[in-house]
Amino acid sequence: MPTTCALCRRIVPNERIDDPQVVQEHHLRPEERATSPTVLLCRPCHKQIHALFTNDELRDGYDTIDALRSADRLTDYIGWIRGTEKLDIQVSRSDRKRGRRR
Ligand SMILES: [Zn+2]
Ligand SMILES: [Zn+2]
Repeated sequence: MPTTCALCRRIVPNERIDDPQVVQEHHLRPEERATSPTVLLCRPCHKQIHALFTNDELRDGYDTIDALRSADRLTDYIGWIRGTEKLDIQVSRSDRKRGRRR
């Protein structure tokens, strides 16, 4: 079955799923893995979320997929990734700093 990423809504087709890391499970409350709800994300979205948010921020303000989807910090990224077929991206520390506005 093709999988739809819960964040960018791109469909990861069957033929790309051979790589078991292409679709990843994200725990919406990362420090409560046992009880946390999970969503399926493509690899770039999962990397991006953890580059832009600390676990504390995820727990306190972004523990639903709707909150993540409407987060200001992710707006540019989502707009960009939706126009690509990339299933792997490089996320650097400097991206993380740029994404922080406070
Ligand atoms: Zn995605
Ligand atoms: Zn995660």
